[in-house]
Amino acid sequence: MATAAEPRPAQLPLPGGTEGATVRLHPLLCARMACPPGLLHRAEGRLAGLRALGVGVAREEWPEIPVVAFAVEHPGAGLLLVDTGFHAAVAVDPAQGMGRLGGLVFKDLRMDAGQAVPAQLRERGLDPGAVRAVLMTHLHADHASGISQFPDATFLVSSAEWEAAADGGQTDGYLRRQFDHAFDYRLLDFDSAATSSYAGFGRTLDVFGDGSVRVALTPGHTAGHCSIVLRLPDREALICGDAAYTERTIAETALPQRMADEHRFRRSLREIQRFLEQRPGALAIPGHDMAAFRRLDAAYGRPG
Ligand SMILES: [Zn+2]
Repeated sequence: MATAAEPRPAQLPLPGGTEGATVRLHPLLCARMACPPGLLHRAEGRLAGLRALGVGVAREEWPEIPVVAFAVEHPGAGLLLVDTGFHAAVAVDPAQGMGRLGGLVFKDLRMDAGQAVPAQLRERGLDPGAVRAVLMTHLHADHASGISQFPDATFLVSSAEWEAAADGGQTDGYLRRQFDHAFDYRLLDFDSAATSSYAGFGRTLDVFGDGSVRVALTPGHTAGHCSIVLRLPDREALICGDAAYTERTIAETALPQRMADEHRFRRSLREIQRFLEQRPGALAIPGHDMAAFRRLDAAYGRPG
């Protein structure tokens, strides 16, 4: 379907690459919401599909899940983001966050105005206007809602994800009004000559050409989902995005209820597992795991 945005091919590497660069990670908790347990990890049984939508599941059994984004400081390229969380308006009107259909499944969305990414950047002494690049794991509502807050940034998204979102609708988890702006969208082509395998991942792109930030194609949750590998000073970090909702997804190959493509999801999860086998010191950051996020925040969040 036609879009207002006119995405162009990404030209990698982006400027600012610095040999041996490491990046600083700021985990950002943008909101929390309650989610039916069967949606995170699919169950067996005749009523599993209904229970995954929360039907017949007592509210006390619904885990609270985080909605997250990440600020990344690169020594040569400046400030970038991974995903955008919810727009500040969602703090005032939570029903906007997941859209009409999403609101039927995800309950008790809680977000303070201070949890919008621009406010969180300012609180850390970072200028939202200085965000040069935003790497999108995918364009689902809880990742893309905040896009309009960064009109001057370059957005990197896989070409498969852009096509899926442009053709998709609410039943696929996409809200077009969140992402279809005439912004600088750049599509990542994982069939290009710049693509290489990296530590268990079959197809990755090196964003700055210095190995500090790599985008790995991990489709399955959505058609063009990506995960991000960061080189921190002390270890590597893997922002899984929704290729793994939780640590249990990774440890037990516990599949979610909904996947755009189960075969590809399994293959991407296997690549994540292989990466972690090959990089035993690496930190895996799942997409929607509150306990894991709390530990991440304790290790890499603001001091004090
Ligand atoms: Zn998603």
